[in-house]
Order: sequence, then structure tokens, then C-alpha cells
Amino acid sequence: MHFTGTVWRPPYEADSLLLEVTAGCTHHKCKFCTLYDDIPFPFKMSPMQDITSDLLEIQTLYYHPMTSQANKLTGQPQREGFKRAFLTGANPFVLQSERLLKIAARIYEYVPTVKTIGCFARITDIKQKTEEELLALRDAGYTSLTIGMETGDTDALQFMNKGYTAQDILEQCKRLDAANISYAFFYLTGISGAGKGVFGATRTADICNQLHPKLIGANMLTIYPNSELYQEIQRGNWKEEREVEKYQELQVLIKRLNIPVQFAAMGASNAIPMYGSLPQDKEKLLMTLEHIITQIGEEQLREYRTHLRHL
Ligand code: SF4
Repeated sequence: MHFTGTVWRPPYEADSLLLEVTAGCTHHKCKFCTLYDDIPFPFKMSPMQDITSDLLEIQTLYYHPMTSQANKLTGQPQREGFKRAFLTGANPFVLQSERLLKIAARIYEYVPTVKTIGCFARITDIKQKTEEELLALRDAGYTSLTIGMETGDTDALQFMNKGYTAQDILEQCKRLDAANISYAFFYLTGISGAGKGVFGATRTADICNQLHPKLIGANMLTIYPNSELYQEIQRGNWKEEREVEKYQELQVLIKRLNIPVQFAAMGASNAIPMYGSLPQDKEKLLMTLEHIITQIGEEQLREYRTHLRHL
């Protein structure tokens, strides 16, 4: 299989067939981001022949009759077919619709058990597609996307160079709602900076409450020395929230969300993993956060962050 650098995928895509159709990020400018620094170029589109050869490899490994016989003879469990594919790279949804449709057709040709396809998308990737294209992509199996919205706080989005505003999130995700393409948001706790966590969470809840994300996954800002944000801090232009403020920010976000949505804080950047369905698990999540703030406290939480070598 062709994989370039670290492969990032959401936790809920663990059972999906991972297929590299892009590597890196077309934007590559967010000040806090070091995710794709281990590859020697900002962005690359995989040649169709590499995608096809990866699909052929999967077909041979999982679906060839010889493989099934070999598994029987050696007592290995029979592998179930993949039901879903996840296209890797920071924003494969940036690809032209025509190419995304071609990739979908190629996946179904080689791995016919796959019924749906997901990938990361930037808000700007959605903006460049027409309503007709979104509908065609939905029909071709692009049923759900994962979007790093980060926050509904436009000042923070602009400072961090995200390349879009809260209003853009609202407009583009409403278009996804209309095309019946579902989406999960990644929220970046701490992105607003010291003293502004509550404001950021409030603005984010205001945006989310007007949309239909199926999940809000919170990651906590962890600043690495090779990031532009680290340099901004050294220059005195930005100040990180204390760890406790980040958890208070999550409390406000959860309190203010009034839509039915899954909430998860599961990645390595969260010292204590949390998961629940809103609104029914609201009190349970709030109690967990209160416990973290009052019983664990700043020192231990900071210790966790300081020793987090890799996200
Ligand atoms: S869009 Fe995502 S992957 Fe690209 S630079 Fe920003 S945070 Fe990093």
C-alpha cells in the first residue's frame, strides 16, 4: 500500500479501508498545526495508478479465493469485507468532483463490499463545489465527512490562519445538510487563547446549534516547538489557556449545545477520554468535567500535556 508519513484518521473510521488519494494538506498554514510536517512536500495527489494498485492489493489480500482457502488451511479467521472506505490526507475533498467520482467507481469495482466513503474536508473544499456536485457525490457514496471546524470564534480562526470564518462554516455546512451529506466536527479546545475559552465555546455552540453535526469531537490544543503558534507565543503575541480553563471551556460548550449530537473527547490530546450523547448524557459529562477540574487540577493536567510527545 502507498502511505506517506503519519496516517491520521478519526477513531470512528477504524474499521474502514484506508486509501491514500492525497498526502498532506492544500492549506498548510494553520499556526498550531504540525500534523503533516513529517512529509517533504505540502500536498500531493496520488496518481490513479497508485490508487488502483492499492485497491488490487486489498482485493488480493481480502477477497481472492486463494486467500480464503489459505486462511482455512492455516486456521486463520476469514476476513470480513470492508463496508466503508476512508480516503487519507488532510483534505481529499478538495479534489475535483470528477476525480472523487472516479475514485469512488474504482473502489466499488475492486472492493464491491464497500458501500460508503468518508474523508477529511476543509470548509473551503465544500465551497468550491456546486449543489449538483454535492448531490452527485452523495449519490456516489460520499455520505459523511469529518471537518476540522476548530471553533466558531472568528477572531481565533483568523489569528490561526484557518482560511475561513464562522459564517463560512455555517453557510457551507448548511449546504451539506441540504445535500444530505452528514458531517462530524473536530473542535480544538483552547484555540481562543488565555481568558477567551468561554467566549470561544459560546460562539462554537451558537454555530453548532444552527447545524446538524452528527458528532463533535474535541481535541485539546497541544503546542509543539516546531509550530508557528509556538513562535507567536515567544514573540508575546498569544497566550495559552491554562489546562483548567480548557476544561471550563468544554463545560460551557456542552452546557450550551441544544442539538442532539454525539460528544467525544477521545484522542491522545485529551488527558481523560469522554464520550456521550447529548442531550441525555449532558449531566454525566458535566460532572466528569467538574471532577477533572476540582479533583485532578492544573498541575497534573499540565504534566500530561508537557509529556505528550505526539498527538
Ligand atoms: S487545514 Fe488541517 S491539516 Fe491543514 S494546516 Fe490546517 S489544521 Fe493542519
